[in-house]
Amino acid sequence: MKKIAIQPKELVASSRTSGFREVVSLYTEGEAIKEAKRCLQCKDPVCIAGCPVGIDIKKFIAQIVKRDYESAYFTIREQNNFPSICGRVCPAEYQCRKACVMTKKGLPFASENAINIHFLERFAGDYGMSSCGNPKSEFGNRIENRKVAVVGSGPAGLCCAGELARAGVKVVVFEALHKYGGVLRYGIPPFRMPGDVLDFEIDYLKKLGVALAPNLIIGKTKSLAELFNEGFSAIFLGLGAGTPLFLGISGENLCNVYSANEFLTRVNLMGAYKFPKYHTPINVGKNIMIIGGGNTAMDAARVALRLQKISKIKPNTSIFYRRTENEMPARRLEIEHAKEEGIKFEFLVQPVELIGDKDGYVKKIKCLRCKLGEPDQSGRRRPVTIKGSEFETTSDEAVIAVGLRANQVLTKAVPDLKVDKWGDIEVEPETMETSIKNVYAGGDIIGGEGTVIEAMGMAKRAAKAIIGKF
Ligand SMILES: Cc1cc2nc3c(=O)[nH]c(=O)nc-3n(C[C@H](O)[C@H](O)[C@H](O)COP(=O)(O)OP(=O)(O)OC[C@H]3O[C@@H](n4cnc5c(N)ncnc54)[C@H](O)[C@@H]3O)c2cc1C
Ligand code: SF4
Repeated sequence: MKKIAIQPKELVASSRTSGFREVVSLYTEGEAIKEAKRCLQCKDPVCIAGCPVGIDIKKFIAQIVKRDYESAYFTIREQNNFPSICGRVCPAEYQCRKACVMTKKGLPFASENAINIHFLERFAGDYGMSSCGNPKSEFGNRIENRKVAVVGSGPAGLCCAGELARAGVKVVVFEALHKYGGVLRYGIPPFRMPGDVLDFEIDYLKKLGVALAPNLIIGKTKSLAELFNEGFSAIFLGLGAGTPLFLGISGENLCNVYSANEFLTRVNLMGAYKFPKYHTPINVGKNIMIIGGGNTAMDAARVALRLQKISKIKPNTSIFYRRTENEMPARRLEIEHAKEEGIKFEFLVQPVELIGDKDGYVKKIKCLRCKLGEPDQSGRRRPVTIKGSEFETTSDEAVIAVGLRANQVLTKAVPDLKVDKWGDIEVEPETMETSIKNVYAGGDIIGGEGTVIEAMGMAKRAAKAIIGKF
């Protein structure tokens, strides 16, 4: 048996950075079967406990070994509405792969030989996309004459809609933007999350009977009370954490300083890199600095480098992070990809001031060096700035990717909806019901920025509770 997991092919770094083509290829059939055969089919498949939605991993891998890809696809779909999405973006190294018996206990993330569950999931998911696109009539009791409003079309909202529609409930998804998908559309770039994969999953929901209503901000265009008056029996809020955090240092309002949210939205959703064909341009600096260490920072850096190449500027993009690589919360694969593509990393550095020129454009960043101190609440060692270590570095564009907070447009308009000190909605954890009866919530609006699959896990709990009341 091969000890090290089989890796799918990837576009080489020098060619992939001149555009937005997907970097990681689909396993070939041979690769998928080889990888699936490495699975030990454990009596106690501990990998399943590592999956926030409890996919029967052992079973779908065995079905791949038998070349029964359709069954593998529907096994995943029983628990997970979006196999091709999760197969691409799940941080499996912290979830199912970390739990796999092939990862030694106590490691911070999966070891190299853990089964590549996510790549197998993508294999089965993409097989399903091309070969069994129509929803299977697999679902038991039908609940007719009930309709539920879902607010937000990110993974939480779409997942909740899918679960309800599978049970026969009528669902309308209300979305503030003109396109659906939430962060999957406007945050994660197409070289990781191609738009056609998202479109397929949204079309699948439509085939299940889900209706989608874009360009509607619930809390502004329509209130929760109006939705109830229109006959919706329950409302699910999947509002996400769309408000960017800033560093709170001087110079953050200079020109060419972006929040990662704005930067990525301009490129991914508004097609800024296709200006003037698309009408939302973005300035591209010669020396771009990304501040942060999560997935958002990696995506912003890799997008920035691509923009430099497309604009025929010599690529020069750096990530500044105040801890070390070990503490970076980004997916390991994205860190590796960023390095391969030529992104420079500066660890243990804390920006303290952005310095502009006379016209108000950022030109330099003043920083302090850090060392690691005691662990903080997150369990990661806290960065401690070193006195007298100040230095300046040249930068004509900065992107701040230091975290996100709750989107409060709706919560501020509904005083009865209980929120915590960060503006996140408070829920009863079993049912995800909020302080308002028949109003449920899930995803990043609960407890802040998480992962796609965690958002889906919460949405599933809410859907189950809503169905349970009917
Ligand atoms: C750049 C980036 C990269 C990421 N990479 C990964 C990754 O690789 N893997 C991973 O697992 N996770 C990743 N994440 C995290 C993941 O995307 C989120 O955890 C997930 O999208 C949360 O889903 P959600 O549905 O709660 O919110 P969102 O995806 O934020 O969706 C919320 C939706 O609600 C809409 N909305 C908000 N308020 C209203 C309103 N009042 N009326 C109508 N609509 C409204 C918004 O417009 C939005 O479309 C990443 C996050 C970012 C920002
Ligand atoms: S994926 Fe890992 S834990 Fe799960 S059944 Fe296979 S070998 Fe066992």
